[in-house]
Amino acid sequence: MEEKYTEQQVQALYEAYLGRPADPFGQRFWSFALDRFDADIDDVAPFFAYSREFRSTSRKLDDDELITNFYDALFERKPEDDEVAFWTAQLDSGELRRGEVVPAMLQGARPTDQEASFAKFSVADYYASNVSQREFDKDQQLTLDDLRSNEELYADLEALDDEYDTLDLEVVGESLEGRPLYRAEVGEGDKTLMIVSQQHGDEPLGTEALVTLLDTLSADTEYARALREEVTVVAMPRVNPDGFARWEQQVAGEQDVLDPRRNSANMDLNRSYDADNRPDPETIPEALAVLDVVDEYEPDLFLDYHHQNNYLGEDGELDTMSIQWATNPEVAPQVSETGQRAAVAIANQLEDFDHAELSLFPGSDNPAIARNGLALEGTPTLLVEQRGLQEMDQVAQGLDTDYSALASAIATEGLLSMLGVIESMADGSFSELDPEDALMIAERGERIPFEEIYATDQRDSLQWASEDHAASESAVMPAEAPVLGVQTDNDLAAYGMA
Ligand SMILES: [Zn+2]
Repeated sequence: MEEKYTEQQVQALYEAYLGRPADPFGQRFWSFALDRFDADIDDVAPFFAYSREFRSTSRKLDDDELITNFYDALFERKPEDDEVAFWTAQLDSGELRRGEVVPAMLQGARPTDQEASFAKFSVADYYASNVSQREFDKDQQLTLDDLRSNEELYADLEALDDEYDTLDLEVVGESLEGRPLYRAEVGEGDKTLMIVSQQHGDEPLGTEALVTLLDTLSADTEYARALREEVTVVAMPRVNPDGFARWEQQVAGEQDVLDPRRNSANMDLNRSYDADNRPDPETIPEALAVLDVVDEYEPDLFLDYHHQNNYLGEDGELDTMSIQWATNPEVAPQVSETGQRAAVAIANQLEDFDHAELSLFPGSDNPAIARNGLALEGTPTLLVEQRGLQEMDQVAQGLDTDYSALASAIATEGLLSMLGVIESMADGSFSELDPEDALMIAERGERIPFEEIYATDQRDSLQWASEDHAASESAVMPAEAPVLGVQTDNDLAAYGMA
């Protein structure tokens, strides 16, 4: 392994033994200890098992219950009967103690479990690394268990509108089947950013990110106020609600439904932005609604969120996000350059999120897609394609892998990409970004069939909790067990960390 995912390992121990994510101080303390003593989670897990916090809750649990809890905490699933039998036998025979079983489970986990736990604990790591100790919420959601239905989306948007004076909500159109198309506006800044999600009905996670973004931006916080002062964000979540309703029908087991990617007239929304061919309101009113909002706001930048298939990069990791600006040769250079700056802002923002693997989407010149069509009319654009299309298809086919942790990591990445652009527009650094830097982003990897994504032994993130070096053989933790309850800067200072 090239990288050591210390923070994720610490998060795993907290979730498994203490039933909560590590708080900022706890994460810093244990990550420091692991690195400082070149230790592995095997070395520190016993401290968690001996902690008062674990013993007080686990004493009442028999081994079956404990193992079931560990599976839920680590892998977001229920264990099979033979898995429970295996681990309880290990505990029974004294082969493993409670303080040894979690590292053993992580290191022996199957690839889908490795992926789920890496996703979950990367989200936890990012959260703990970017929240203050005082504002840390141990109930912070780490997984995305359900996608909003259309009705839930509308209810949540209306609720945001009721809750916040800072948000303005309007129905600006109707889908072919008569579902409302919403436009939400937050902020009063001179710079305008428009974000659209789910032109393709089976590409849902951008919508989840967008609702979280609207909530974040509307709130009465210093952070949100500073962004609202400089930037006006115009959002159109899920512009293909009919397609999404069909995807939900597939999930419910219906076989013969029209491709949920498309609208109900079997049209692809994202092939209708050719300026010489306005969309026909009879067959594709959804794209027309998007164009009307573009015309009304004349945004400085347009972000378009999608999902793509799986691609394996040269570093052995799957791409989680591929981006591209307007590449049609007739687009004015400064328009494409603004898209490139957005790409750089996103690359900068995602550097701190370990789960993110950013690459460049290989662009076509097609003038009918939003990325080129809007740019030909002068609106800078960036296409954002996130991992998830094949996984959503798996869900639609009724296959039962739990993607709630992966979905959370993808939605988190989507949200961070949006915030990266907005923060950069707000603090004025956006115009200083060098468009040329966008060309340094890696090319997208090779297409990999879904059956093979868990078969590759190159993916570091599928071995994220493994022992990785000979040095750990001789690593010895200090004789005095460090305290779990690190609460203040003074505690950190006591261990030479402040
Ligand atoms: Zn798409």
